[in-house]
Amino acid sequence: MAFLALFVFPAQAKLGVLAEQPDWLLLDGYQGTVTAEEFKSRVPRYSSDGALYQYLVVGDDRVEVYSDKQKQVRLWTLQFAGPKASAPVPSGTLTVNPGAPAASDANDKPLAGLRICLDPGHIGGDWADMEERHFRIGKGPWVDEATLNFETCKWIDQGLKDAGAEVFWTKQLGVPVTAKRPADFVRQAITLMWRQDEKKAARSPEAGLLKLLQWYQELIFYRVAEIQARAEVVQELHPDLTLCVHYNAFGWSKRGPRLYKGVNRIVIFVHGSYLASELENDDMKYGLFRKLLENNAATESRVADAIGRQVAKVWDFPAEQYGDGSPTASAASAGEMPYVWSRNLLANRLYPGPVVFTEGPFMDDRLMYQRIIAGDYDGEQSIAGKKYRSIYREYAEIVVQGVIDAYRK
Ligand SMILES: [Zn+2]
Repeated sequence: MAFLALFVFPAQAKLGVLAEQPDWLLLDGYQGTVTAEEFKSRVPRYSSDGALYQYLVVGDDRVEVYSDKQKQVRLWTLQFAGPKASAPVPSGTLTVNPGAPAASDANDKPLAGLRICLDPGHIGGDWADMEERHFRIGKGPWVDEATLNFETCKWIDQGLKDAGAEVFWTKQLGVPVTAKRPADFVRQAITLMWRQDEKKAARSPEAGLLKLLQWYQELIFYRVAEIQARAEVVQELHPDLTLCVHYNAFGWSKRGPRLYKGVNRIVIFVHGSYLASELENDDMKYGLFRKLLENNAATESRVADAIGRQVAKVWDFPAEQYGDGSPTASAASAGEMPYVWSRNLLANRLYPGPVVFTEGPFMDDRLMYQRIIAGDYDGEQSIAGKKYRSIYREYAEIVVQGVIDAYRK
């Protein structure tokens, strides 16, 4: 009925936590840079089940992006390049070097000309407890993941520099990059708590409710605002490659800290595999398009596969497994290398340019725990009856050698 039209407003666009309405015009520099065929060939990495197409109208010369599945609210239109020649990306476009940089042939400086950004995971220091990324076994020393990531990155930094790369960091240990604090996120925390924990919130007494609210405020601070702030750092630095470095754990905060025998698994993430539910959000669609147009997938795969080959050679731990390859799995296997999975993480979506995300050994693996608390040292030490090198240097060398292998001509 016609009069109803007066009252029909487009449904309010869905956005992720702290996400702002994306400015699609920032992608206009990519107009005419990809052919229709190139575009379609890139989509499966990001939307393996094709859910993205629910929001697209793909023509011969353009693709229209819509907010809704009814395709009523158009967000942006990308004009394709002609079938033969794609136009060069104009200068000033929101992009970074997508492919191989001008790495030198010289054997001693195989990474000369390459600019690499290191992003050691988590904040650490006084924030480690809030981040739920530290633990201790009995009266043993505290194991703080941010510190392990930081120590490992110091050796990665040195190894990459020795190979000729210029190296930058997103952060220092124990210092949040974001100027915001948990108290700034009361409003967003109420919304998130209501959406994700309605039942628990409803049955909590006031003190419990405020505690739950505080937990959500903190979560938004360290998991969202902090990564957004680091993304701005990466945007400024404009690196050829960003490496996010983490250690993993088997039993994080579920059953309290304890050690497990032989549980190490390794996973290396490249960007992709947006879930259909994630693509309902307009900021996710924008992130996907930006990543697809930056054309990072080949670089990310080359680096991740090369690091994976080093993992297989040095550690030979099993690969992490995700779901069953179904469209609801949060990650999809990305190529032949079993360690490499594509996943839509906040960091690898928001950081511009190629991003490779390594989840290292498990801190609560019995042997790995011994190696971690042994600290950093020269040469070898005897641990549980066997000689081992410093775990920090060993992990760093795996990453550095992988990056060198990926860029060596
Ligand atoms: Zn981590």
